[in-house]
Amino acid sequence: MSFKNLRLATFLVCFFGLANFAFAQTVPVVPAELRVITRLVPPFVMKDGDTYKGFTVELWQAIAKQIGHTFNFVEVPTIKEILAGMKAGDGDVAIAAISITSQREQDFDFSQPMFDSGLQILVRNDAEAGFGLSQIWKLLSTGAMPFLLTLLAALIVIPAHVAWFTERKHHAELFSNSYFPGIFQAMWWSTGAAVGQQPDNLGSKWGKGVSSLIVIISLLFVSYFQATFTTVLTVQSLKGDINGPQDLIGRKVGTTVSSTAAAYLKTLEIEPVEFAKIDQAFLALDNKQLDAVVFDAPVLLYYAATTGRNKARIVGSILRKESYGILFPRGSILRKPVNEALLKLREDGTYDALYAKWFSVTQTADVAQ
Ligand code: GLU
Repeated sequence: MSFKNLRLATFLVCFFGLANFAFAQTVPVVPAELRVITRLVPPFVMKDGDTYKGFTVELWQAIAKQIGHTFNFVEVPTIKEILAGMKAGDGDVAIAAISITSQREQDFDFSQPMFDSGLQILVRNDAEAGFGLSQIWKLLSTGAMPFLLTLLAALIVIPAHVAWFTERKHHAELFSNSYFPGIFQAMWWSTGAAVGQQPDNLGSKWGKGVSSLIVIISLLFVSYFQATFTTVLTVQSLKGDINGPQDLIGRKVGTTVSSTAAAYLKTLEIEPVEFAKIDQAFLALDNKQLDAVVFDAPVLLYYAATTGRNKARIVGSILRKESYGILFPRGSILRKPVNEALLKLREDGTYDALYAKWFSVTQTADVAQ
């Protein structure tokens, strides 16, 4: 080999060597057995003993089969830890109910959207439905109500005594001469007077005076009672009414740590109570520690149709649309084959079958097993 050729050969070896080195540095290597970071978020990722199940789990299992990879799940508690784990290189892929956001797109790569989602509000079922005993109790014990009720009693009990005492002689047909049952008959009479049914023919001056007074006071009372009743009811219904994001201000609203829902609530100047698991937020709502939960609509719908049935309900429409994606480290060579597999699974009906399995529950009462 001439000196010139030797120089060329050396140059080529160095060039491809360097190029190869650079390539190896920028494209993450993918092991045969993929490390899949996930977190529990029903019905997307659930656990039955040691076995993972749920919509995203089963979709991922089908994808892994298509792309010919085995995998291991690495479970972390929150979405925050999913993102941190991926950034630290602890996973080759992450699946759960991970919303695609512009901010996350800066640090990671996403598959194409694999599920249409969005944020919605969940409230306790009793928040405004019906008018139960507890509401009646609240109404009677709120504001001036105890005073009014005492007054009502006074209007009946005191006049009953006056009427019985003064009229028992003249109106034996109305009141018995003995205290019992005379006083009850007199109370019956004064109740009638208090509601405006003034009995006629009460002979004595005392009797006439008392019954006129009762009518006047009872008229005042009825107007006042009605006004208070209406005010209390209005305030009550306003308080119980959460119909949209504007009603969340000043309320205790729960969601999960570092979720898109938490970020959304902060833009509304609402400081959410952030839980690791969404189930903890559901529990807190049920225990009346929260007024509402704002989270991913499919997760809320699933809860409201299964374990939360009769306990909680969704109010209002979707606050903000979102899509879920499968998450990769930047530049992962897995993204393309995963996207291809995702499309194939949509085309061959696998995706629809999984969707029906896990989300028919939100329309019917069956729980996917
Ligand atoms: N879609 C939500 C997000 O990506 C899920 C949050 C969670 O799993 O807690 O922020």
